[in-house]
Amino acid sequence: MTKSNDDTGAAVTGRCYCGATTISATHMPRTIAYCHCTDCRRVTGAPVAAFAAFDEATVTFSPDEGRKVVANAGVMRTFCASCGSPLTGRYDYLPGQVYVALGVLDQAGDLAPQLHAHESQRLVWLHIDDELERFATTSRSRLLDAAK
Ligand SMILES: [Zn+2]
Ligand SMILES: [Zn+2]
Repeated sequence: MTKSNDDTGAAVTGRCYCGATTISATHMPRTIAYCHCTDCRRVTGAPVAAFAAFDEATVTFSPDEGRKVVANAGVMRTFCASCGSPLTGRYDYLPGQVYVALGVLDQAGDLAPQLHAHESQRLVWLHIDDELERFATTSRSRLLDAAK
């Protein structure tokens, strides 16, 4: 994976659609995952979502993490307060991690997903031809392992 060339020395950078929110991470993500669940589809508006899981302490949002929305207990999503781009997801069962929407990261092209979560909810017409591990429901155990 390549390092960004900006002068902050950040490992990963990103921004929302309008540019009001910027993201900077000092370390590479622990895990990168597709999520096929219906919630992530609605959050992103895309047929499949992808997220990069970072240690919370390694990521900075400027000016902040955006507008917080809790539509389901135990899950908090945030969106740019100006343009509504999906920024993050935080899950009570995955403490210490923040899931940043892959598409807002400048290095998305270098950050290939490593697994498919909620494969059972995948849109039937969506075919992603890869050899990645597929979890019928949550990939919780794998994601928790990755955080160790
Ligand atoms: Zn924005
Ligand atoms: Zn999901």
